[in-house]
Amino acid sequence: MIKSSYQQPDSKGKFGRFGGKFVPETLITPLKQLEEAYLRLKNDKDFIEELESLHKEFTGRPTPLTFAERLTKHYGKAKIYLKREDLCHTGAHKINNVLGQILLAKYLGKRRIIAETGAGQHGVATATACAKFGLHCVVYMGETDIERQKPNVFRMKLMGAEVIPVKSGSRTLKDATNEAIRDWVTNVEDTHYIIGSVVGPHPYPMIVRDFQSIIGIETRQQILERENRLPDYLLACVGGGSNAIGMFFPFINDPQVTKIGIEAAGKGLDTDEHCATLTKGRDGIFQGMKTYLLQDDFGQVREVYSISAGLDYPGVGPEHSFLKDENLVEYFSINDKEAIEAVKLLSQTEGIIPALETAHAIAYLNYLLPKTSADEIVIINLSGRGDKDLNTIMEFL
Ligand SMILES: *Cc1c(COP(=O)(O)O)cnc(C)c1O
Repeated sequence: MIKSSYQQPDSKGKFGRFGGKFVPETLITPLKQLEEAYLRLKNDKDFIEELESLHKEFTGRPTPLTFAERLTKHYGKAKIYLKREDLCHTGAHKINNVLGQILLAKYLGKRRIIAETGAGQHGVATATACAKFGLHCVVYMGETDIERQKPNVFRMKLMGAEVIPVKSGSRTLKDATNEAIRDWVTNVEDTHYIIGSVVGPHPYPMIVRDFQSIIGIETRQQILERENRLPDYLLACVGGGSNAIGMFFPFINDPQVTKIGIEAAGKGLDTDEHCATLTKGRDGIFQGMKTYLLQDDFGQVREVYSISAGLDYPGVGPEHSFLKDENLVEYFSINDKEAIEAVKLLSQTEGIIPALETAHAIAYLNYLLPKTSADEIVIINLSGRGDKDLNTIMEFL
């Protein structure tokens, strides 16, 4: 059923049966304070103006909507446009959310910022914003990831952030997240915790969605100016789901616009080495939220895999779980090999090297475009640029 007006989450932070606040009792009050501050500030004139001017002067917004002429010719079907989040400062959409949350922290009077990072992209965006605002920045990162992502570790340190190696568990993202939560519980008086995607306990999935919605708001205006009508299809890759929801949300009440989220099928859905949570997951509770999760027969969260570090996550934002069940967004998956081919395709037709995450959305054109016609319009959210992935791509090729 299509609702004429979409109102999510509810007052308890639930998206249907998903979402919520599954956290230690010590975090209930800070989460409540964060929610109250956010609900007040999102309508505050000074807050809105400060964020707008930051985006204009620092992020480089609005980002262009580029007509992909040669890629369109390649398929000979629907017109393809690219929303250029790769042109944001730091090379991806993550800065949209980080700057919003840094301003929240500033208005809340918090001088210390913590974050966790896997591939390092969210850590770099957070370190960037902290340097800009002169805030103390602590980034938790698994030891294994520190080893794998040296250039990003160096970037964060260069901008003055403290990178704390996490030695517990598998020494990757989920262990870093546990440490960050521990830190927040201890230092909540002066510390704001910046979560990097539409995940975690309420109100984070809502706040991050709203800050990323700038993508869809601009896209809507740009396509109306250019084509005088809405697109037929929106495509975006889904890790935690922030770039996808940022693109889809401003179109959520437009049923004529088909929204498609693309997950990573890694080495194949018939193996254990993928992270197609919405395709293969089951209900579970993880990192403060109820959502679809990849888990074993005992309900333990599984080790997951994708060639793209930003999609390599065993959960997904709770709103995506809801949107899937309500049939408001469709979800598919693309494997490593298809993603690499898509990197080559976009590089050679448009002169744009996409991030490996983004390449998953581009690869889906092979399935979608044959079904389209020349008078239709497809927009891909180009979530990030591929410079960070050159080594991985070279090794694969
Ligand atoms: C982190 C990242 C993603 C995945 O995160 P979402 O929250 O799903 O958007 C996708 N693309 C790029 C370029 C990223 O850096």
